Amino acid sequence: MSDIERRINEVKQRIAMACARSGRDASEVEIIAVTKYVTSEITGEILDLGIHHIGENRVQDAVPKWEKLGNRGTWHFIGHLQSNKVKDIIGKFAYIHSLDRISLLKEIEKKSRQLGITASCFVQVNISGEKSKFGLAPQQVLDFVTEAAGMEHVRICGLMTMAPQVEDPEETRPVFRELRLLRDKIAKARIPGVDFLHLSMGMSRDFEVAVEEGATFVRLGSVLVNHE
Ligand SMILES: *Cc1c(COP(=O)(O)O)cnc(C)c1O
Repeated sequence: MSDIERRINEVKQRIAMACARSGRDASEVEIIAVTKYVTSEITGEILDLGIHHIGENRVQDAVPKWEKLGNRGTWHFIGHLQSNKVKDIIGKFAYIHSLDRISLLKEIEKKSRQLGITASCFVQVNISGEKSKFGLAPQQVLDFVTEAAGMEHVRICGLMTMAPQVEDPEETRPVFRELRLLRDKIAKARIPGVDFLHLSMGMSRDFEVAVEEGATFVRLGSVLVNHE
């Protein structure tokens, strides 16, 4: 068994245990393998091992990988996205996790319309309020989702957040819980065109806490690949 295969199995077990602790079904949680640290070859190996969600955060690295492997998986753009780069990833990456402003929303709508597609987007929320982090403030999200729902070529499929880097992952719990409560509040508003909202939250350090709090996509890099 390869090192990556062993790591994938271990992560799946840890997700299953977090689901068991919180009364969830493990089938509700998808792993996005974040391949920003590794080559196309290793990304191909991860796809061979049955992980089909791949996440990349920089356009200049993401596009060449997509060109080699794009037809073999479902690609997620998870990094901060400049409006002038939308054209490079739209139609290639099935999901964008970093929708955080109206100007970007409008650009995604425009480019998707030109291609005749609908882009699936997560709204990035800065729950922790750290200045270093991108994302809307929680109180802006309902209005933003309502505006986005009016766009013909954008589908809001979820909310995404990044927790602060802390020693004890348990400290991230309130951040993940708040994203879930925000999701529930938006669901209650019954915005036309907005159906089930996924929660993209949890990284290598804190994914078990995120799963306990309702994550449906975890974005995992260093726990899956060795990149020292
Ligand atoms: C790098 C990255 C991840 C994965 O980080 P790890 O801690 O290595 O699991 C997840 N989400 C985003 C947005 C990232 O940039």
